[in-house]
Amino acid sequence: EGSESNAELVHSERAFSAEQLQAGQRAYELDRAHVFHSWQAQRPFEPMTIVDAAGPYVFDGDGRKLLDMSSQLVNTNIGHQHPKVVSAIQEQAAKLCTIAPQHVNDARSEAARLITERTPGDLDHVFFTNGGADANEHAIRMARLHTGRTKVLSAYRSYHGGTQLAVNVTGDPRRFANDYSAEGIVHFMPAYQYRSYFGSTTEAEETQRALQHLEDMITLEGPSNIAALILETVPGTAGIYGPPAGYLEGVRELTARYGIVYIADEVMAGFGRTGRWFAVDHWDVTPDLITFAKGVNSGYVPLGGVAISDAIFETFRDCVYPGGLTYSGHPLACAAAVATMNAMDEEGMVENADRLGRDIIGPALREMAQRHPSIGEVRGMGCFWAVELVKDRTTKEPLAAYGGSSPEMNQVIGAMKAGGVLPFANFNRIHVVPPLNTPDEDVRFGLEVLDEALTIAD
Ligand code: PLP
Repeated sequence: EGSESNAELVHSERAFSAEQLQAGQRAYELDRAHVFHSWQAQRPFEPMTIVDAAGPYVFDGDGRKLLDMSSQLVNTNIGHQHPKVVSAIQEQAAKLCTIAPQHVNDARSEAARLITERTPGDLDHVFFTNGGADANEHAIRMARLHTGRTKVLSAYRSYHGGTQLAVNVTGDPRRFANDYSAEGIVHFMPAYQYRSYFGSTTEAEETQRALQHLEDMITLEGPSNIAALILETVPGTAGIYGPPAGYLEGVRELTARYGIVYIADEVMAGFGRTGRWFAVDHWDVTPDLITFAKGVNSGYVPLGGVAISDAIFETFRDCVYPGGLTYSGHPLACAAAVATMNAMDEEGMVENADRLGRDIIGPALREMAQRHPSIGEVRGMGCFWAVELVKDRTTKEPLAAYGGSSPEMNQVIGAMKAGGVLPFANFNRIHVVPPLNTPDEDVRFGLEVLDEALTIAD
């Protein structure tokens, strides 16, 4: 019944009253006067007001309905205002709003059970955080304490979060302004076949060369100094470029051989986004730590965490883990996580994401690539796709520089919004990342709007 009531919400129209319109305007003015926005010059900046949302749709300050093809930073995997999750939060709030991490709480215990039921291998323990960046910070801390080593290997073209260590581990240009006081972070070149750093022309060559490069980095940095390797299983913000066949298996083998903790960052790719519970499931690879956030409870209440292997758990059995957060395993967030995972099971959302990717999104984007010269490459899986836009297919010159924007990209984004779709755009990419339970006809609508908008870039 959850999905039915969701569908009803989605298709009901909003006619905003004069008071609602005024309230939206007032919110906008107060925001501009007092709210300091992230990753953003504060002026000139004209953020969109969102007053209401239902399923895959959001409603702006004028009551206009937009398909949320961004899932709010690839977060609302079950769509907005899912009735089962909203009532679970309400019930938990009525019972117990907050409790310190040292006490037992039923919502937290059940969330940990459901998460570890889904994680691969022996990742049977969960350290809860408030989001993805702090999950990565704690995973690195655990790896350093577990190995007694300091260095951390991380890929260029990656995103691991905005806090001090996480942003330094991140491999995109937004790191530069923050690039200080984080010792021991060493970046390596990822496998990224479309713009291969290794001059590869085939997938097999890319895998082999990227793994050789990684092994060279490990050897040259000194394996006995390297605590961890952190890698997004499918790098998200950096372009949803999935690993070539054999790459992750190779990363697992190298890290195991050199005693390096393999941290898979699944903050964006985890919890069904790729059509499996975790993206590593596509390759049957078991990392030592998996970091997660976002989709674990669709972002209804902030929650993240680290799933921990038995071996790393053993390190902390008899010695103190020096770290914690007041809101670790917050009852409202955990109740939302329990309801989210249950709703995803009951409504077959992970399978649906897989089907949408195979039957609708993938074929439609590939067909568009044949017609739009501005499309350099389309790639993805499940409800996790990127369209990489270029000025010229032969030179692959991006439509906006890595780390920047361009008038052409802004026009494409503007046209999508005008057409009724809220996209997730990053540099020279439009990401097609709708909620996993978006009805087929709404996904098709979003793709048609994208198709039309791309004519601007051709
Ligand atoms: N890791 C990855 C792969 C992400 O995509 C993100 C956020 O987009 C983060 C970490 C940081 O998560 P948060 O913003 O919850 O701190």
